[in-house]
Amino acid sequence: MTPDVRDRAERPHRVDPRGADAVSSCATEPCAVPEAAWRRALKLIGQADEIALSCHVSPDGDALGSMLAVGFVLRSMGKRVVASFGDRQFAVPRLLRFLPGQDMLVPPKDYPAAPELMITFDSSTFERLGLLRDHTAAAREVIVVDHHLSNAGFGTVGLIDGTAAATAMLAEQLIYRLGGRLDRDIATCLYAGLVTDTGSFRHSSTTPAVHQMAARLVATGLRTDEIARELWDRSPFGYLKVLAAALDRVTLEDGLVWTYVTRVDRAAYGLPYAELEGIIDIVRRTDEAQVAVVLKEDDQGAWQVSIRSKGAVDVGAVSAALGGGGHHNAAGYTAHDTVEETMVKFRRELGKA
Ligand code: AMP
Ligand code: MN
Ligand code: MN
Repeated sequence: MTPDVRDRAERPHRVDPRGADAVSSCATEPCAVPEAAWRRALKLIGQADEIALSCHVSPDGDALGSMLAVGFVLRSMGKRVVASFGDRQFAVPRLLRFLPGQDMLVPPKDYPAAPELMITFDSSTFERLGLLRDHTAAAREVIVVDHHLSNAGFGTVGLIDGTAAATAMLAEQLIYRLGGRLDRDIATCLYAGLVTDTGSFRHSSTTPAVHQMAARLVATGLRTDEIARELWDRSPFGYLKVLAAALDRVTLEDGLVWTYVTRVDRAAYGLPYAELEGIIDIVRRTDEAQVAVVLKEDDQGAWQVSIRSKGAVDVGAVSAALGGGGHHNAAGYTAHDTVEETMVKFRRELGKA
């Protein structure tokens, strides 16, 4: 077993983002978020005693990391903080359990029904909040922190920048504006978001501002090697078997490479759904394909469709047409048909793109 990341890390030193160590005071340049929105967000946070945080269902490193990072700072400001995500089976994905701050998390059933102030992270729509949708609808104020171009503009204050590589960049900016300082725990959470959404600084979204932010985070003393191992370089044995099944039925047709993983595949090895996240990264390497798709059957029997593009096709648009969302090169949606029907509909939309 890999020891907890925090146990191994050296004593952190603090970085004042506005001091000599700061490379940039703005996570994304230029800042797409209007100053008036920042001011309104700070005012609402200042006035609130309890703040309810949420992120999208089946949280990834960006969703959970951004939420917990801001949670740490709000807590240090003396706020009561409660954080959650609206999955029917509430569990932090195994690969994110190393993130500090999990004591802030409560299952949806313990979440305030009508929060005074709610902040959502990395969720482009109301629907992506899952079971917490009704709580969001009933909240007095909702600050939306997000980087999806497709953000539907829900909530009462939008801290939304579609050019940011990760929600973690907006979360960092919010932390600075709240007067917070990065410590190793906060930086670990933000770093998990940054590396997840940039594919370890490989995607085209990896701007100088991304590397500058990474420099600020790494300067707190976090262990990039341990974080990378937790996120990508370990899995239960069953993952190899399920991956083998997925690769065994992978199909290449006209620039599209695709496969699927069923509940039955996973059940044979007791492999949780969240362990499937990395399969798309193997499938998408196919030279002959511009678009890669992995259909993953979740525990409820729905297909969670992961789509990746090498750039020529806007899969975010394809996904949106099928009821989902995402970005130009990484998108997804939920389907309730058979594998065959799902792929017929997918090919039809892909043909239009
Ligand atoms: P994934 O393949 O699960 O990593 O998802 C890639 C991206 O697609 C995510 O970052 C989301 O922006 C988007 N996405 C995935 N699933 C959905 C969904 N069911 N509805 C809307 N957007 C989604
Ligand atoms: Mn996400
Ligand atoms: Mn994100």
